[in-house]
Amino acid sequence: MIHNCSSCSLAETWFEEEGSDVYLNLNRVATEKDLEMDHYLEYEGQTIETVRITVAFCPFCGQKLGSSENPIVPEFQHHNFGGRK
Ligand SMILES: [Zn+2]
Repeated sequence: MIHNCSSCSLAETWFEEEGSDVYLNLNRVATEKDLEMDHYLEYEGQTIETVRITVAFCPFCGQKLGSSENPIVPEFQHHNFGGRK
């Protein structure tokens, strides 16, 4: 793990390094309430949505993460695994 943040341990959040780029991954996981609302979901704790964005710093504690001197191109990926779009 490239950065172990106390904020990240509070949720399904982690960092990934690919080449000189650093990505922040955020998962939203299913709660009991989500299961009642969305019958496509199968179990509590299942990943409903994932967002992945490029970052240079940790947005929670401010530590510098990227090693690249090149400017970051802002982008994100979003995946929805639930039935409700
Ligand atoms: Zn941090």
